[in-house]
Amino acid sequence: MSGLLVVTAHPDDESMGAGGLILRHTRAGVQVNLICATRGERGWVGKPPGAREEDLAQIRTSELEAAASALAIDDYELWNYPDGGVDGSDQNEITERIKEHIDRFAPAVVVGWGPDGVYGHPDHIAMGRCTDAAIAATSERTRPALYHLAVDGPLAKAYRAVVGLNGQDGGALPLVVQDHVDVVIELTAEEVQMKLRAIDCHESQLETWRIEIRRHPQLMQQGYGREPYIALSTKSSGLSADGLLSEFA
Ligand SMILES: [Zn+2]
Repeated sequence: MSGLLVVTAHPDDESMGAGGLILRHTRAGVQVNLICATRGERGWVGKPPGAREEDLAQIRTSELEAAASALAIDDYELWNYPDGGVDGSDQNEITERIKEHIDRFAPAVVVGWGPDGVYGHPDHIAMGRCTDAAIAATSERTRPALYHLAVDGPLAKAYRAVVGLNGQDGGALPLVVQDHVDVVIELTAEEVQMKLRAIDCHESQLETWRIEIRRHPQLMQQGYGREPYIALSTKSSGLSADGLLSEFA
């Protein structure tokens, strides 16, 4: 067993949520695979200029392809569940598909959404539940370690400051802040730049604050440079305290 599998709901979750974790591993030569459940066709915010809403699924498919390449992800699967409708889709089928993927690639570690969905997004919550169930269904002998994406106090503070930059209410961001996380990956300034390149591939999803943040290196470091995770189950082959698979610690 080796490698890392990241299971997400939308194109951009991987870069905005776990871009640093992914980069650390791909740069260390660890195989990283990604599953993304939807094409994000409901995330229309009028970008990029000249784009048409009906083309959004195709636009975001291309954006994910570019981001996966920027993160040097070995292999990814983009599924076709409805954006905003993952929890209304066949949960057993999704769980079985994730389990099949785990059986085939035997990752040492799986990272997915927790029950908070980081900000309560129903697709995140449903996808996280299916991921947890898929792991529970694997045989104990080959079961990967499991981690959930999370937001801790310092990260929430950075995001509120950044969203507040252009006069928006930073407190309106409905982040679920965890009192306790198990692993915090702190990226170097160079890694933050690499993560930024992956995030920028998702041009159709760049809110104003994601443009603005580039002019505030310190906030970018505190926001993009911090990735907290909660450990649901660890193994000797799990993530070490510094956030790398233990064989690379
Ligand atoms: Zn998402």
